[in-house]
Amino acid sequence: MSPNSFNDLKELLEKLPGIGPRQASRFIWAMLDFEPKERENMASLINSLDQHLKRCGECLRAHLATKSPSGDLATVCSFCQPISNRDHSKIMVVERDSDLLNIEKSKIYGGLYHVLGGALDLLEKDEGVRKSIKFLKVRAESGKVKEIILALSPVKLGEFTAGFIEKVFEPFSKPASPAGGSQKLKISRLARGLATGTDLEYADETTLKQAIDNRK
Ligand SMILES: [Zn+2]
Repeated sequence: MSPNSFNDLKELLEKLPGIGPRQASRFIWAMLDFEPKERENMASLINSLDQHLKRCGECLRAHLATKSPSGDLATVCSFCQPISNRDHSKIMVVERDSDLLNIEKSKIYGGLYHVLGGALDLLEKDEGVRKSIKFLKVRAESGKVKEIILALSPVKLGEFTAGFIEKVFEPFSKPASPAGGSQKLKISRLARGLATGTDLEYADETTLKQAIDNRK
């Protein structure tokens, strides 16, 4: 280990969600006590992480890519494949894969998703999120989508991001004709069943169901 390795590894660990400098240091000291074989195994698993675990080319969620009969890895997840029995007219926008997993666990939603990779950041360290929002626009323009459900955490940056996405989609959600008629695209937000400051990832089933059923 070079004298800088500790700090280099610490900086990398701090990139993980919810990990601060103290926790990153604790991880390094714990890893120091691993058997050499365990450390080797960990390094090689991290190295090969993206061989099968891929981001879906449509909804951007992490999924275990399966092989097609021709031997190629599927570029879209099982939800987004046209033959899936999910409701392709709805897209629920979430910040992270962990939010999606929590909603899936509750089995109360049968549509598609869009994973932003986080919320917009006022310090503009959010290039990935902005790219993901642009891509959401491309998906919505396909014409199959009738509703976009914003399921962002009810904290300051989540609210800011939801407002930003609503602005982006404003032209799409205007009535199709000046005389009124049906809206082209409905943009809804989860109802305030979720207490302000609650992470979607930790919301319980009943709260999630109420928030989805009463969305507006
Ligand atoms: Zn997908």
